Amino acid sequence: MALLDVFRLHTFIGGVHPHTEKERTNSKPIEVILPKLGAELIYPCSQHIGAPCEPLAAPGDRVLAGQKIAGSDAFVSAPVHASVSGVVKEIRDILTPSGTRCKGIVVENDGKHEQWPDLKPNPDFRSFSKEQIIGLIKEAGIVGMGGAGFPTHIKLNPPPDKKIEYCIVNAAECEPYLTNDHRLLLEETDRLITGLRIILSLHPGSKGIIGIETNKMDAIDILKKKCRDFPDITVMELMPKYPQGSEKQLIYACTGREVRSGTLPADSGCVVNNVDTVVAVERAVVRGRPLMRRVVTVTGGAVKRPGNYKVRLGMTYRDLMDAIDGFAEEPVKMISGGPMMGVSMFTLDVPIVKTSSAFLCFTEEEAVIPPERNCIRCGKCVSQCPMYLMPYMLNQSVIRGDLDAFCADGGLECMECGTCSYSCPAKRHLAQSIRAAKREVLAKRKK
Ligand code: SF4
Ligand code: SF4
Repeated sequence: MALLDVFRLHTFIGGVHPHTEKERTNSKPIEVILPKLGAELIYPCSQHIGAPCEPLAAPGDRVLAGQKIAGSDAFVSAPVHASVSGVVKEIRDILTPSGTRCKGIVVENDGKHEQWPDLKPNPDFRSFSKEQIIGLIKEAGIVGMGGAGFPTHIKLNPPPDKKIEYCIVNAAECEPYLTNDHRLLLEETDRLITGLRIILSLHPGSKGIIGIETNKMDAIDILKKKCRDFPDITVMELMPKYPQGSEKQLIYACTGREVRSGTLPADSGCVVNNVDTVVAVERAVVRGRPLMRRVVTVTGGAVKRPGNYKVRLGMTYRDLMDAIDGFAEEPVKMISGGPMMGVSMFTLDVPIVKTSSAFLCFTEEEAVIPPERNCIRCGKCVSQCPMYLMPYMLNQSVIRGDLDAFCADGGLECMECGTCSYSCPAKRHLAQSIRAAKREVLAKRKK
C-alpha cells in the first residue's frame, strides 16, 4: 500500500501505533483443545456485566454439554452453560481471571461429551420473528466476547425510539499480540457474514460495516469477495492504530459519528459487536447452540507452542497450557487479554471465561518496565488520548489525592485504554493511576 493511501484510510483522532507482535500466531490455524477426562471445569456465575446468575445445578447432579447450569431473572444478565458432560463436584467461591471472586460451579468432565437433547438446529431461522431471535441469543448466554461482557440480547434490542442505522462488526483487533479474531475472519467467514445478516435483520434498513485494520489484508480480501452479493455490507479498511477497537473510536472511524459523553452507541444509531460474538450469534440462531467455547490466542516468548486455540469455557489456564506443551521458560508476567487493557494474572488455576480473548506469557526481557520519571510536560499523553482528556493533569490530581479535581477534569470518562502510559516518554503510570482513582470514586459513590 502506497504511503498516501495509508493516510486515506478511515480512523479516529488520537491513538498510538504499538508494535503489533502478531507474527507469532497470525498464520497459525485455530486448533481445537478438548479438556481431558476427569478435568475439572470451573464456571463462574458472573461472566458478564449485570446481575450474577444463580446455580441451577447442585453438587452430585449430572449435567450435559450445552445445559443451562446458572441463570437469573434480572433484566441485565446472561445464563451460563456447561461445556462438557459430567458431574457437579461443588459450588464454591472462585477466583476469575480478572482477579474478582464470585460463586462458581465445578464440573468434573466424564469425557463423553454428551449433549443436552434440546440443542437443535433451526433450518427455518430466516422466518423467525425479532423476538424469537433475541430470545435465542439471550438463552445462548452470549455476551460481548471482545472483553466487555455486556449481554448481547440487550445490545441488539435497544428501546424503540433508538433507530439503529449501522450494525458494525468490530474486526479491528487493535491490541498487540491478539490474532484470535483474525483467524476467525479467515476460517469462519461464512458464519460471520450469516451472523451479521441475522443482526441486520433485527434492524430493518440498517447497513452492515465490517471495520478491519489493513494489517489483515488476507481477511479483507476474503471478506470483500464473500460480501460481493450483499450490497448492504461494507468491508471498511481502517488504518492500524490503537485503540481502534474501542466502541466509540470504531464508530467514529467507520461512520464519522461521535458517541457523546453519557450516551450509548444506540443514541448515535450504531450497534457494535466483535467477531467472536457475531459468530456466536450465528451458532445460537442457526445451529441452536449456546456459548460453550471461544478462541483464545496464547502467545509470548515464554510459551512453547504459541497459537490460536478453540477452548471449552470453564477449562483452566493450567489445563490449557498442559494441552499445548506448556512453557518454554518460566513466565515472569502473565496477562489475561491484550497487553494494553488486559489483567495481570498470578495463578494458572482460574477458568477461561466468555471474555478471555488471549493469554500472554512474557519472559523477563519482554516484561521489563522502565522506572517512572518526572513529567516533562511534553503533552504527548494529551495529544494521543482518544477521549480528549489530559492524563498528566489527572495523574497529578490522583497524586494529590484530589478526587474532586480528578472528576472535574473528566477522569471518569477515561476508558482505561493505556494509550497515555504507552506514549509517555517519562514512563509515568498514567492509566494505572487513573484506573485506581476511578475505582475509588465509584466505590465511594456506591456507598
Ligand atoms: S486518559 Fe484514559 S482514555 Fe485517555 S489515553 Fe489514558 S487511559 Fe486512554
Ligand atoms: S506524556 Fe508523560 S511526560 Fe509528557 S506530558 Fe504526559 S505525563 Fe508528562
